Amino acid sequence: MRAIILSIGDELVLGQTVDTNSAWLSQQLAAVGCDTVAHFTVADDQQAIESAIKHAASRCDVLLVNGGLGPTADDLTRQAVAAVIEQPLELNPQWLAKMEDSFRSRGRPMPEANKIQAMIPRGARMIWNHNGTAAGIHATHRSSADHVCQIFVMPGVPKEMKLMFERDIAGQVSAEEAGDTGPVILSRTLHTFGLGESVVAQMLGGLMDRKRNPSVGTTVSAGIVSLRLNARFIGRAAAGRELDQTTDLCRQALGDLIYGQDEQTLASVVGNLLKEKGLTLATAESCTAGLLAKLLTDIGGSSQYFQRGWITYSNEAKTQMLDVPAELLEAQGAVSEVIVKAMADSARRKSQAAFALAISGIAGPAGGTAQKPVGSVCIGLASLEKVSARSFVFPGDREMIRDRAAKMALALLRFELLGILAPY
Ligand code: ATP
Ligand code: MG
Repeated sequence: MRAIILSIGDELVLGQTVDTNSAWLSQQLAAVGCDTVAHFTVADDQQAIESAIKHAASRCDVLLVNGGLGPTADDLTRQAVAAVIEQPLELNPQWLAKMEDSFRSRGRPMPEANKIQAMIPRGARMIWNHNGTAAGIHATHRSSADHVCQIFVMPGVPKEMKLMFERDIAGQVSAEEAGDTGPVILSRTLHTFGLGESVVAQMLGGLMDRKRNPSVGTTVSAGIVSLRLNARFIGRAAAGRELDQTTDLCRQALGDLIYGQDEQTLASVVGNLLKEKGLTLATAESCTAGLLAKLLTDIGGSSQYFQRGWITYSNEAKTQMLDVPAELLEAQGAVSEVIVKAMADSARRKSQAAFALAISGIAGPAGGTAQKPVGSVCIGLASLEKVSARSFVFPGDREMIRDRAAKMALALLRFELLGILAPY
């Protein structure tokens, strides 16, 4: 099924309100296998709404309209829908009674203006609003002899729109509804960390061909390069099968660089590995000052494997709390492999955890030197068997450098837990 989302409101086209409804609806549609082909936004203008509905309805199977169902003169969506399907608006007695009831229960008479919210085009179905006074509308529009579009009209208020969609509309637009006979989109996101987008794209080669189905595209966010797979096929079974096959091909191309999919994060994946193996972790952080511990403990149940963390920002703290020899700090500098090894080793011994990660670096903007520019970060990893360290120079500002340092520490521990050499 192909869907178009039409949002209506002056505040949206003027940029005073960000159209979060369309994004939310697209995500819901994708989750049930319905392919969103366009988003449109128009002002509170009946002519504009009518032509947008006509234009969209001829290009999709499901048109989700939101906004403009209020009781005021600038709410014109119901009038526009009625005009497009060439039917008069009729009073829906059931909704009128429900509105009068809810006003009465608040001890107020219903203003005459609200009556319009119970008006539904003849032949259309009223959709119950469990959160507000504007009823929704389900209308059918035939734009040509062989094309019919289902139009669902919802309120613009996000809370009302969401509940109406979930209760009444999702079931009618899902791929299950399309059975094995309708077009379906299924999506999956695979995540990688540590290599740039162009390197990942190169490794994927022909899988990223624009004409390929399922399609594979890359996006980057906060150092995470994600592959977005979209499978558009007839029937959910075929789409699911194809999506799995393309997932396998991506995994063959990128190997263990793919750390997870969809909602998974580096921290959740590392947490699961630790949990599975019954192992624990401690942290010793300098430049990230607790960020690594935060990422690890953002996850519910992390107390099963996260043992404790030290923030040893100053040299004195490193010496006092982790017994890093002052002479060693003096001789090597705090940002060095020797020091992060000492920090990790000491943190692991003191905590009796299976692993300890240590981070020390120069997050900037000041403090860089020719030998150790801003972005220089050393990461130490101690296990029962060995203590190792790696050096990196991360690009970007202070926030980015700290973020990449914490994520890289997680990535290194993941490879250690998998028993494979880090590919960077
Ligand atoms: P209704 O159909 O429920 O009467 P409306 O469009 O008439 O909706 P408005 O008063 O225009 O209602 O908007 C109600 C609230 O919902 C406002 O805060 C508005 O910014 C918000 N809103 C409307 N449309 C969207 C949207 N597409 N995305 C996010 N917020 C929205
Ligand atoms: Mg509005």
